[in-house]
Order: sequence, then structure tokens, then C-alpha cells
Amino acid sequence: MSGSDSTTDFGEHAARMELARCLDVCLDCRQCVELCGVFPATIELVGTRSSADTGLLTPIEQDRIISLCSHCDLCRDGCPHRPGVGAEAVDLPSAIEAVSTALHRAGRLGWRAGFAGRAVSSEGTLRWSRRLRRLVNPLLGARVGGAARRAMSLIFGLSHSRPLPAVSDRSFTQWFAQRGRPVGGSERPVAIVPTCLVDQFAPEFGRDAVSVIEASGTGCDLVGVTCCGGGLLESGQLDRFLQLAARNLRVLADVDGGIVVLQSGCLDVLRSDYPRLLGPTAEDIASRSHGLVEHLEAISPEVGIEGVPGLPALVGLVGSPRGRATGEDERLAALLERNGIRVVRIESGSIGEGPGALAEARDAAESTTPDDPPRDLALFGLSVVVNRVVEERLGRPVQPAQRLLAALAHAHSSR
Ligand code: SF4
Ligand code: SF4
Repeated sequence: MSGSDSTTDFGEHAARMELARCLDVCLDCRQCVELCGVFPATIELVGTRSSADTGLLTPIEQDRIISLCSHCDLCRDGCPHRPGVGAEAVDLPSAIEAVSTALHRAGRLGWRAGFAGRAVSSEGTLRWSRRLRRLVNPLLGARVGGAARRAMSLIFGLSHSRPLPAVSDRSFTQWFAQRGRPVGGSERPVAIVPTCLVDQFAPEFGRDAVSVIEASGTGCDLVGVTCCGGGLLESGQLDRFLQLAARNLRVLADVDGGIVVLQSGCLDVLRSDYPRLLGPTAEDIASRSHGLVEHLEAISPEVGIEGVPGLPALVGLVGSPRGRATGEDERLAALLERNGIRVVRIESGSIGEGPGALAEARDAAESTTPDDPPRDLALFGLSVVVNRVVEERLGRPVQPAQRLLAALAHAHSSR
């Protein structure tokens, strides 16, 4: 059974109080109301009361709200009340995570939320999803909020308001194993941590990343670490997260060279959550783990991409909260600008407000009229999840920013 009153322990109680406090600020603010189902559900549930007090939400109602969070972190981005910025110090994803962890520890996570948590955060389930992709993909790609997605939400607890990526036909790790002799003459290849997102949902990200790194003369290797465990952590499965993280650390400790993590969110987990939860043994690994752009800057700071055919003169760079935390978004923007490409930085949080935010961003850079639809602005982003959400919201494609970096490979090979 989900939630409780009499058996609620102090950890769960404190976590629920903090969640209610955050939701109370959100209720006044409402900046994120279009981002996911969490905010509309809160408004709806509080609206049934005589007083708009999130402290009156029952544990079962809170659990319903929690089950709608897919931990995309979009509401952290640009939140005027976030810790260090606003006096209220709202960190809604962390508050939700804390309640989930307390419920997991007490063995009281609802079966739907438990199923979703286990499925989304299990490498085994993701592998099975690929085997069954002809059945799974039509469901994942069904219209957001439509009947099929609502049925899935009811049965499996997966959010019906969140666009989901399709499972790829061939995973990145399969491609890597089958591609033949690796390129690159480095004696100390970098260990690629593809992340399960790239491995199962966006292998083209990984292929582009490998081609860029190898074009610079550095070999790439897979060492058997794919998933950082961030999904386990976010769904409250702290004990499983700690087991996986400890195993990953043992494997990565044997890596001589650098470690390149292909998604900023997972890099952030390695750099901040591993040391926070596993202590000093994780710090050495954290210091040797880099994002793709960071790695490229370290190995080839001088190589430019100016004049490389096919690159746009102006790009809209869609940021993500974790991309900002790791510095990857800003590094990529600076790299492009150094090479003569004009960059419009677009915070993924503001995208939730609709195309107007994009028009404003473009107008600021181009001084065009607000009515002029920003059709010519090519959108790129580093995060698989955020790209998918933004595509859905704007009805416009967001290309993997790794494609821009592929121009680096071209620049290297033509030197
Ligand atoms: S911007 Fe912050 S306070 Fe406002 S709704 Fe989003 S998470 Fe809540
Ligand atoms: S982390 Fe994402 S899904 Fe969760 S509340 Fe924030 S915007 Fe919604």
C-alpha cells in the first residue's frame, strides 16, 4: 500500500513536510505548470479543498503527485526560488526523491510507482524493451495524454504527460562490439560510459561521440559500465543505487586513462552523487570523469570548426539543468562561438512556457519582430531527455548537439 499515517516514520514525515512546503511555493509561482503532470495534479488536488494548503494533502495524494514525476529536472532550470537564489530554497525533484527513498526503505512504495521505478532504472528491463521494441515503441510513442498513454500510466505508473523516447533497433554497445577494429592510436584509450539513455534510446549520440574522439587520435574503449544508477537514486531505490555505484567504482578504478560520460545528467551523478554517498573512494573517479565537450577541449583546444561545410551560422542551444551543473552546456556554447557560430542559449525551463520563449530568445539575438516565427533557428541539445521534451512542446526537431561536434572530426581528418 502506498503512503501511511500511523506507520509513517520520522524520515518519511520530514520528507513529506518538505515536499508540501515546496509544492506550496510552486502553487504561488506556477512557472512550471506546463512542464509535467506534477503541477496540474497539485493544483487539482488542492482545488478540491476549502483552503489552498498543500500541507493538507494526504500521503496518498502526495504519492499520486510523486508518481507523475519522471525526474527530468526541468523544473530546477530557471526556478527563481531554487536554493542559493530564492529565499524559499525550493528543490522539488530532491523533495520528491526524498519521499520516494523513505517509502522504499519502509517497503511502502505503491506497486505502480515501484514497477515504474524498477523498469525505468533497470538495465535488464531496458534490454528486454529492446527485444520487444516492436510492441513497446508504439506505446511509448503514443500521443501524450492520449488514451494509450493514460492506460499505461494506470497500469504501469509511467507518466502520461511526458514524451518518451523510442527504443532503438541496435544499441550503442552492440554497434561498438560489431564495428570492427577501433580507430585511434592512443596507448591509453578513454573509457566511454555510454549511459543507458544513449545505449538504448540514442545510439547515434554515441556513434558521433566516438567518431569525434577517435578522429583526434584517441582510442575509445567500453569497460562494462553503462548505467550510472541515477534512475535508481531518483526513484528512491537508494540501496540498489549504492550497490550499482560500488560496482561501477570497482570497474572504473582499473581504468588508466580518462573516463568520458556521454550524458551530462549521468556525469553529474558520477561527480556529485557518488562522492556524496560513497565517500572519498569515489572522488578519484569523479575527478577523472569528463563530459564529451570537456574531453574534446582538453585533447584539441586549437582545432577550429569555422568554415566546415554544413554547419549553421546560428544555432539555438537547448540547455539542461545537469548540463549547466557540469558546465557542458556553456563549454559547447563557448566552443561554437569561438568558431564563429552565433549561439542563442535557451533554458529548457523557459521552453515549457511555449514557443513565445523561443521567439524571445531568438529576437534578443537577431533583433527581429516578435511575430516572426523562429523557423530558421536550428535547435540543438546535449540531453536525450530534454531534447525529446522540447521537440514535443515546440513541435520542432531538436538535433543532438553531438552532430555539431562531429564537425570537429571533419576538421581533424582534413588537417
Ligand atoms: S519555478 Fe520553482 S517554485 Fe516555480 S513552479 Fe517551478 S519548481 Fe516550483
Ligand atoms: S523533475 Fe520534471 S517531472 Fe519532476 S516535477 Fe520537475 S519538471 Fe516535473
